Amino acid sequence: MSASVPTGDQERASGGARRAVPEPQAEPVAQTFDLVKVYGSGKTQVTALDHVNVSFTRGSFTAIMGPSGSGKSTLMHCLAGLDKFTSGRVVMGDQELNRLNDKQLTLVRRDRVGFVFQSFNLLPTLTAKQNILLPLELAGRKPDKAFFEQLTSSLGLQERLEHRPSELSGGQQQRVAVARAMITRPDVIFADEPTGALDSKTGTALLQYLRTCVDELGQTIIMVTHDAKAAAFADRALILLDGQIVDDLAYPTVESVNEALVRVGA
Ligand code: ADP
Ligand code: MG
Repeated sequence: MSASVPTGDQERASGGARRAVPEPQAEPVAQTFDLVKVYGSGKTQVTALDHVNVSFTRGSFTAIMGPSGSGKSTLMHCLAGLDKFTSGRVVMGDQELNRLNDKQLTLVRRDRVGFVFQSFNLLPTLTAKQNILLPLELAGRKPDKAFFEQLTSSLGLQERLEHRPSELSGGQQQRVAVARAMITRPDVIFADEPTGALDSKTGTALLQYLRTCVDELGQTIIMVTHDAKAAAFADRALILLDGQIVDDLAYPTVESVNEALVRVGA
């Protein structure tokens, strides 16, 4: 057929190319430029991020991998405006985080990013529906009924909305947490080991739901994971080592991720 073969597919078809190549018109939604984060000072100084340059495009699903202590959480926290960094720049949407004061950063965290944690973090006294709508309520925003319905149906939650967390399975609770993270339509969802507390079958189902959020709702997701099987659901896998991105895999598979981890000795 004609003109618009995505670059990624060309890369894939040509075989062997491992660099994630952004699609031609793909809009960057989060970017870092020479991002450095140093903890402590003197002898106890640790360089957690060492000149990280990375760009995430809207509607992409990225896995961040690497050994413990390689800087995965620090990178997520700096991108999300949760941690101050030492030097460099972070751009989230159209905002440069290093130029914002604490009040503005609070708004970035509230309006531009969503979080999904290993441990669900739902409020036990609220129903699923109330948990999902809570971020809008806190921001004084009205729910968009059509989007709420689309979101809860994409996540298979329609029948569970009036239940409290204790009446839901682990997988259902985590889907409520995903819906809660998505209800504000954030630029990026950060998921830190989202399947860590789920059994393998439920974890796989959750990853499929995350994939649906990307494919059907255009959500951008950045997920930290130790699991090559989880990374294989993403469009891209970054491998961190000692605060640097040492590999960047397009269309990761269990095999390509494991090979890359072995290559860097992780
Ligand atoms: P990962 O999430 O990949 O396990 P982290 O981002 O948590 O890695 O940590 C990267 C490095 O920064 C590690 O050496 C860790 O010990 C150090 N580090 C993380 N948080 C702090 C902190 N609050 N104070 C001092 N050192 C820290
Ligand atoms: Mg971590």
